[in-house]
Amino acid sequence: MNYISTRGNTPKMQFSDVLLMGLAPDGGLMLPETYPQIDRATLDTWRHLSYTELAFEIMSLFISDIPSDDLKALIDKTYTSTVFNSDDITPVTPLYDKVFLLELSNGPTLAFKDMAMQFLGNAFEYVLTKKGERLTVIGATSGDTGSAAEYALRGKENIEVFMMSPHGKMSAFQRAQMYSLDDKNIHNIAIKGMFDDCQDIVKALQEDADFKAKYSLGTVNSINWGRILAQIVYYFKGYFGATTHNDEKVSFCVPSGNFGNVCAAHIARMMGLPIDRLIVATNENDVLHEFFTTGNYAPRKAHETHVTSSPSMDISKASNFERFVYTLLAQDGSQVSRLFDDVKTGKGFDLADKLTDIQGKFGFVSGKSTHADRLATIKKVYDETTRLIDPHTADGVKVALDVQKQGETIVVAETALPIKFEETITQALGKIDLPRPPHTIGLEDNLQYVTVLENDARLVADEIYRKVTAR
Ligand SMILES: *Cc1c(COP(=O)(O)O)cnc(C)c1O
Repeated sequence: MNYISTRGNTPKMQFSDVLLMGLAPDGGLMLPETYPQIDRATLDTWRHLSYTELAFEIMSLFISDIPSDDLKALIDKTYTSTVFNSDDITPVTPLYDKVFLLELSNGPTLAFKDMAMQFLGNAFEYVLTKKGERLTVIGATSGDTGSAAEYALRGKENIEVFMMSPHGKMSAFQRAQMYSLDDKNIHNIAIKGMFDDCQDIVKALQEDADFKAKYSLGTVNSINWGRILAQIVYYFKGYFGATTHNDEKVSFCVPSGNFGNVCAAHIARMMGLPIDRLIVATNENDVLHEFFTTGNYAPRKAHETHVTSSPSMDISKASNFERFVYTLLAQDGSQVSRLFDDVKTGKGFDLADKLTDIQGKFGFVSGKSTHADRLATIKKVYDETTRLIDPHTADGVKVALDVQKQGETIVVAETALPIKFEETITQALGKIDLPRPPHTIGLEDNLQYVTVLENDARLVADEIYRKVTAR
């Protein structure tokens, strides 16, 4: 399988090289040249596979430069019941009539990001060892990516991690998860700004070719192709879990911010998984909802981004969105370049003329929810089913129930566990004891290690220089 850039100006590459890349040299995102097509006979045999067997079948279609035995070993090492707390890895549980939860949050940091990041950590180590290289990973997080990356990369010999997070914007649990790590290769930087500011700093450092080469910068944020690939697997697994037969169709509802999770669902659908609709759920930061209902993509500025009770979705410029737009525009790299040059200057673009394709051919629908909706949904679900859901999953459940058609089966991605967002759960339900996995007991009492910096890419570059030379 060859990989190409959405801007059409990068030579073809293999998986191992794409894995270590951030943006493509031409500013685009890397994608496989084609999406492999899964026929009915294959789908029938896949229905009965374990998570690791399924992951191997799917990833093998996209990876041609890692020997099969090595890939299998990487997958077996990653998706264990010890790390993910269940033999199913991603169990599907019923919530309401024809509404299911796809549990993606049983990994080390209690959010779906672990699903991909744990694989990425092992795959990075493997590829770097093979090439005899080191990597400096820089990333931006609104809460969950950062901790998932740090837990996946902590203690890895050939990797240094610098993670930018918005100062004072994450939950107490999220801060404790990241900042309490004392591994020598993990460096937390809190930026006085919003998540999008952190993301802009990562982009600025990436675009500085000298800096990038000097520190062999890589990224694990959601534009990383390896993450998208690992996420495709659980849409297949979730489909099999919610159905009994491959004649059935399901829709997936995905609480969204950077469009990484739902992008994997879109690719699974393109591969032929019988998905009816892809329901994009946003919070008050509804730039994606606006696009999927009007065709107008109008990314907002950092100061226009709301701080909400589903903070991992407080994103106003969806970094993975370009991957879908590339497919929507029939792989026209030069048009994609023009549109995203306009995004860069803050203009955005209008694809209202493509709305029929967006909603019909590609099956996208969307909805949004507010803080009050989240509280009401958490309470409703708890009262009616005794199930506790986190605020992000509540965005998804709210939108799923809003848009569900007669007879439609909807699988909602559970993207985090409630204990990560205790303040909001308490607001919705009053003080109740939330289940806490053993490894997180007492977490908030640990010492924290973090450097607070003004919103300025140069200050971050200096910090990286200081820390890397000190090692
Ligand atoms: C990251 C995250 C999201 C948003 O996922 P994207 O891939 O950025 O769309 C939703 N919920 C939780 C809990 C997250 O951590």
